[in-house]
Amino acid sequence: MKNKNELIAEISGLVEKSNTILILGHVSPDGDCFGSMAALGMEFIRKGKTVRCAAGDGLTYKYEFIRDYIEILSAEELYDLYKDTDFDLVITVDTADKYRVGSLLEKVFDRQKCSVAIDHHITNPCFSNVNWIEDRSSASELVYEYLVETGADISVRTANVLFAGIMTDTGNFTYSNTTSKTFEIAAELVKYGAETSFLAEEIDRKRTLGATLLVAHAIDTMTLHHDNRIAVMSVSYDEIYGCGALPEDCENLINFARDIDSVEIAVLIREINPLRHKVSLRSKKYADVAKFAACFGGGGHKHAAGCTLDGTTVEIKKKILEEAEKLI
Ligand code: AMP
Ligand code: MN
Repeated sequence: MKNKNELIAEISGLVEKSNTILILGHVSPDGDCFGSMAALGMEFIRKGKTVRCAAGDGLTYKYEFIRDYIEILSAEELYDLYKDTDFDLVITVDTADKYRVGSLLEKVFDRQKCSVAIDHHITNPCFSNVNWIEDRSSASELVYEYLVETGADISVRTANVLFAGIMTDTGNFTYSNTTSKTFEIAAELVKYGAETSFLAEEIDRKRTLGATLLVAHAIDTMTLHHDNRIAVMSVSYDEIYGCGALPEDCENLINFARDIDSVEIAVLIREINPLRHKVSLRSKKYADVAKFAACFGGGGHKHAAGCTLDGTTVEIKKKILEEAEKLI
């Protein structure tokens, strides 16, 4: 297996000889996904490369500030414009499996000859030509190391997006994936000018009325099982829009279940269509939800994982509860 320095050298060698670079992230992109994409994208543009970035439906409400830094297209926009384009290099970030880019971007990915994956999910099956997979708090940590090692210019904007990525994937430096290295990198990013209170305000302390009403609704759907050690919530599109919220507002809903003191496993079942649902899983102490999700074709980390299942909410809830109870 190659060591980190060899991987960074290999990736930067590929970047050097590429003129056109496509950077892709996962469906329902989060702060780490946007942060890693934007930081790499800005650096490659600075180096004179032609760069396109795409993930999900593009930038979401909390990450609007990134719009001033770099363009991040939706999967649909990218597909419409570039479905027949051969890029010199495609890089996926924060993307635990190829299909996680979504069906449209997967088609674009599949036609590219040279691919790199930079990811922090150890369940990643290494689907690219070069795979830098390391068990770290966030992909943004890896991108930071890549930029430092390759002598990149770390601007205030770069520091902001990477800090945002680390901050969101660590739950503001509180999850167990937060290491001393995470704090060291965060401190370096502050030295590079990361505007921490601006980021907290944008990402954590700002919520639409619709998103607020959705929190109330999701809590209302919550059921507790097994001495209140398992909590399950579910939301459908009708409910999301009925509250005046957007699908992206589901990002942190699961924490309202996870944070209940008695709960070890929290589950959020979210509609993709009436017969297909995304399941988010969180555990607190001992349950390994990455393994759990892997049994259902998904993946993630020990304490935060997910999968997508076919079936109605009721069917999926039954199936998930049966398995979750084995871990309790
Ligand atoms: P989420 O519940 O979407 O916040 O995801 C929790 C963690 O699990 C994140 O690190 C995701 O990248 C990962 N994850 C979610 N869904 C999947 C999936 N279908 N396959 C692999 N990893 C996933
Ligand atoms: Mn991540």
